[in-house]
Amino acid sequence: MSDCIFCKIAAGEIPANKIYESDELLAFLDITPVHPGHTLVIPKKHFANILETPEELSCKMLELAKKIGKKVVEEFGADGVNITNNTHPAAGQSVLHVHFHIIPRYEHDGLQPWPHKSYGPGQAETVAAKLRMEE
Ligand code: AMP
Ligand code: ZN
Repeated sequence: MSDCIFCKIAAGEIPANKIYESDELLAFLDITPVHPGHTLVIPKKHFANILETPEELSCKMLELAKKIGKKVVEEFGADGVNITNNTHPAAGQSVLHVHFHIIPRYEHDGLQPWPHKSYGPGQAETVAAKLRMEE
């Protein structure tokens, strides 16, 4: 994708603070970090979002995200880590090349992910029935 900023980073056409690179994957610092160490994991090949990314590749991305998650906890003394993905602009995706965020978190850092609601009477059962899947 010629107009994709993460494809350009993967191709070495624009700079990034890379922390891991393989034939298939790249991890680099987010340019506007929530906290220092906030890292992005991408496949070098362009897929728009995680729902369109092949299974095996998404598993490799998650495996790398976990390793980086452990490292940010060790290196920055983080109390926790968010490993997260936004899919489609409605969910906050601004770069349409699949990526996981690895965000170090600290007790009392004041960040509130999102508000929670409650289910009405019987509603949770109906919702669960819609989503239920066979093994
Ligand atoms: P999302 O909003 O989930 O699509 O996340 C996209 C992330 O990419 C944002 O957190 C941006 O700060 C980050 N970003 C955008 N451009 C660059 C860049 N050139 N280098 C590193 N991170 C970037
Ligand atoms: Zn791309």
